[in-house]
Amino acid sequence: MDVKKLIKDAAKRYGMDLCGISGVDRFVESPKGQHPTELLPGCKSVIVVGRRLLDGIVQANFRCFEDGRRDLKGLWGTYGYAMLPNFELTYACYALAQYIECELGEVGMPLSTGPMTNGIQLSIRHAAVAAGLGEFSWMGLVVSPEFGARNRFGVILTTAEIEPDPMYDGPKLCNPEKCGICSKICPTGALSAYDEDKNPQTCKVGDKCYTYCNIDRNRCQLATLALNKKLGGKADYVTSENPTDEEIWNIQQIMPADQAGLQHVTSHNCGKCQSYCPIGSWNEKFKQRGLTKGAGAAMEVR
Ligand code: SF4
Ligand code: SF4
Repeated sequence: MDVKKLIKDAAKRYGMDLCGISGVDRFVESPKGQHPTELLPGCKSVIVVGRRLLDGIVQANFRCFEDGRRDLKGLWGTYGYAMLPNFELTYACYALAQYIECELGEVGMPLSTGPMTNGIQLSIRHAAVAAGLGEFSWMGLVVSPEFGARNRFGVILTTAEIEPDPMYDGPKLCNPEKCGICSKICPTGALSAYDEDKNPQTCKVGDKCYTYCNIDRNRCQLATLALNKKLGGKADYVTSENPTDEEIWNIQQIMPADQAGLQHVTSHNCGKCQSYCPIGSWNEKFKQRGLTKGAGAAMEVR
């Protein structure tokens, strides 16, 4: 019985575009409490599934940043960044865990996916890299050769011992020294610039080391939560360009519920870095099909 093929075929049936498998040995650097065997005693394999984002919805974000169509931002929230991909991943992880238990007789444990699930058991980004689906990019998201940064991932832990996939070892996908679009295009300066950052973040997955930018999460949240009118908010909830953790927390408690959708808070009001990152045949998918005027057209637009 080729367990790996069975799992990958099942992932495809459940609507997933990517599926990779890692052994637990690639998680030795996990923070305490987040190693797969601390979550599932006897865990032998970590399965990671991935769903691409729709080109048509990424282009809705382009309309926002290139044509001022902030009214389309909800599409990015519903079908792009937050809701549907996470529901799909949640259902697929659940279905795969059921398959593992019912058909293979092993234990399957699906982990939380996305912001509405209210919990992080381990770093899904690290798991995706360990499972060979891509590499860390300068902006800190995992980029795959197929879809660049425009994919989302879910994780299933299992006691089944499955032959691991090799980690991604192809041509380097992100070259921040030549590109740097994410840092330049960010409307709040949340991502440090490659040529200015003397102390970037580093991490080790398996035997590979990765470097990525320092992310000012509070500045990022100014945009993703739309905390002032300039960034698409209904009011100037926060006036500082460098908000503190406390300011961000306090404002989340009083944000009007009509802006939160199904999530506890909004998180879908930006995604500019993810949309304009050129990895994943970006030119062919978007520029050559006339779906964007290019990152330059969105540089100054919030
Ligand atoms: S926009 Fe450029 S520098 Fe930033 S992650 Fe993508 S490829 Fe790397
Ligand atoms: S989501 Fe927007 S604000 Fe956050 S890092 Fe990306 S471009 Fe910057």
